[in-house]
Formats: sequence, C-alpha cells, structure tokens
Amino acid sequence: MLPLRTRIDPGEALDGWLLRLARRNQMPAQWLVAALGLAEVVRRKTPRTLVRGMSTSQLRDMEQQAGLPRTALDTAVLAPYHLVGWPALPGSRFCAACLREPDARWPIRWQLPYTFACLRHHCLLAGYCPACQQAPHSHWSMRTGTVDAHWCTLRRPTSRDICGADLREHQPHQLDPGDARLAAQQWINTLLDTINDAGAADQLRDVHGLAQWLRRRVHPDDLGRFGDITVAAAPEHQQRRRRNTGRRHQVLETVVTAAVATQAVELLSSAT
Ligand SMILES: [Zn+2]
Ligand SMILES: [Zn+2]
Repeated sequence: MLPLRTRIDPGEALDGWLLRLARRNQMPAQWLVAALGLAEVVRRKTPRTLVRGMSTSQLRDMEQQAGLPRTALDTAVLAPYHLVGWPALPGSRFCAACLREPDARWPIRWQLPYTFACLRHHCLLAGYCPACQQAPHSHWSMRTGTVDAHWCTLRRPTSRDICGADLREHQPHQLDPGDARLAAQQWINTLLDTINDAGAADQLRDVHGLAQWLRRRVHPDDLGRFGDITVAAAPEHQQRRRRNTGRRHQVLETVVTAAVATQAVELLSSAT
C-alpha cells in the first residue's frame, strides 16, 4: 500500500496517472512501479507495457495496491481499443493548451493513432517533444515522476542528459472551427464513445484501412485544402516512410494522419 493515494480521472491514461502518483509520493516512477510489483516493466525501462500489455490480474493488483476502486484501470489502458486493430503509437501525443490548464491530465486517447486533434482548443495534437523530437511517455528516466508530467524527462538520444523541455510551450497547429479535420475527429470520437455498439468497431477499423490505402496513394495536390504544412509534409513523409523513418517522421506523422484520416472519414460517412 502506498502512503499517499491519488484517484484516477475518467479517461486518464494509466501511465499519466502513475506519474502523478509518483510525484505525490516523491519518488521516480520506476521506483513506484517496482513498489506496485511490476519489476519487469522497470527492468525493460519502458512504460509502454503499462498501457499496452497488462493482464487483468495485474490491473486488479495495481488497483488494490493504489487504493483504487476495482476495474477503475480498465478504461485507462489501450485494451478496450484493441478490437479496432489500430497500430500503436510510440508514446503519447499531447495538446499544449490542455497541458496549460490547471489539473491537466494525459488522456489515454492521446495514445490512439486516430486521435489527432483537440476539439476544445481547435488544434492538431503534437506527436513529439519540440526540443528533443521524441514521443512523450515513450520511455522513462529517473527524473520521470519527480517533476510534473508536462516536463519532458526523456533522455536525449545522443547523450545521457535529460531533455527538460516544457511541453506547454509547444505552439499548436491551430485549425479554423470549421476545419474538416475537427469534424472528422468528432465523428471518430463519437464512435470511440460507443465502441461496443454494433458496427462502431467495424467503422473504426475501416477508418484505418482506408487511411492506410489513401496514405500510400496520396498526392500533395490532393491535400491543398489542409494547408501548406500538410502539402509540404506529404512527399517527405512518404519518402521517409520508404527509408524506414527518421526522427522528423513524428513531426510529420500527425498532420498527414489527420489529412488522410479526414479523407477516409468523409468517404465512410458519405457511404452510410
Ligand atoms: Zn486541448
Ligand atoms: Zn524532450
């Protein structure tokens, strides 16, 4: 049992909650998960297992250890979304404007590939830390959990230094309120809310299948309505995919994903 407890909010990611719990107990997140009996996760030094691969019994144990209601963690992991067959992101996207708010949380849906826009702040999510260009929450360092979660505690790729950037300072890619990408995100979110209803998962699976198909065939001229950044990203994006990606891949990934997913949603929603 931990001395200090923190409840998890609806929709909050398990790893985001753990960082708050670690901060509250003034210990690195790696120590916290060891205290919760998850030494294997610590050994691998990846927090991704926490949201991708925890067994039901591990979740029940963690809830008991942390004083949470039984099943409170079931919606804080990616398991409810596995049935749509979407690929995993390397970490969590984020909305800097959301992180600037008091009591900011890291929603589990920021870790889904087709959560690309914030409907409250009318912007695209960021997929990388603006300073070190790595995906937030993709791995942990010994600083992780000792500071608030809007600080990047990723180790820089070329050194042992911690990045230390404030993710709240990221300048979001703003969208007009009438932007088609916001409408597409709304359509996707509604289906995610009803993922267990008949047909919802099928439609979400189709979003990915169609988006992948469009991604392979998209020409920059097709993306003009999404703006210059997306047009510029398209050819480089495709080139880098063929080269098996570079770090800038993440920079481009969200804008191109938003564009092709929006095209996919428009095709699907007009067909139903
Ligand atoms: Zn936001
Ligand atoms: Zn960073």
